[in-house]
Amino acid sequence: MGSRTDFERPRLAVGVVLPPLALLQTKATHRASSGAVMNDLQTLVLNADFRPLSRFPLSSWHWKDAVSALVLQRVNLVAEYDDVIRSPSRAMRVPSVIALKRYLHLDGYPAFTRFNIYCRDRWCCQYCAEEFASSDLTFDHVVPRSRGGRTTWENVVTACSRCNLVKANRTPREAGMHLLRRPYRPSRRELAHAAAPLAREQVHHTWVDFLYWDSELEE
Ligand SMILES: [Zn+2]
Repeated sequence: MGSRTDFERPRLAVGVVLPPLALLQTKATHRASSGAVMNDLQTLVLNADFRPLSRFPLSSWHWKDAVSALVLQRVNLVAEYDDVIRSPSRAMRVPSVIALKRYLHLDGYPAFTRFNIYCRDRWCCQYCAEEFASSDLTFDHVVPRSRGGRTTWENVVTACSRCNLVKANRTPREAGMHLLRRPYRPSRRELAHAAAPLAREQVHHTWVDFLYWDSELEE
């Protein structure tokens, strides 16, 4: 399992030294959600078409990376927090939303991550069909690795700890267990749809428009 993200950060030129930024907190209102301290502020990253580069996980960078990209003119500023950062020569508000200047073409498939596997399987154990919290789930190789099974979308399913233990080092047929459905590689669109009900986390008000306009429309 890699830790590859769904998007690329702009490559910052080697050797570029940014002026030291002394932090100065301003108004307490319009702060990031859940009382996050400024050091933890994240900047939403949009593609050049103003849609998030990735929704699950949501594409965001630490604000310092966003400031670096702005200074290097790799991205456009879209919205700001009220918090101000100062260097000896200038002051600027912390960016809350930025957009890439050049459109980044994304392939149609999401990253192969634990979250995305659970999401594809709707947090349901693919053997007993019960729904569990992420902490009670694991992933199961349908054809065990010791038997040549690969770690791919087509051979890995969500399983509860109990079923995973019962199945052990056997194929479903050998274990007398049935898969809810054959595992497959989902599209980004499908995962976005599956994870939509989970996207209830508090986000800064400047992010809302971009998330709202990009959401899938129901029939
Ligand atoms: Zn189960």
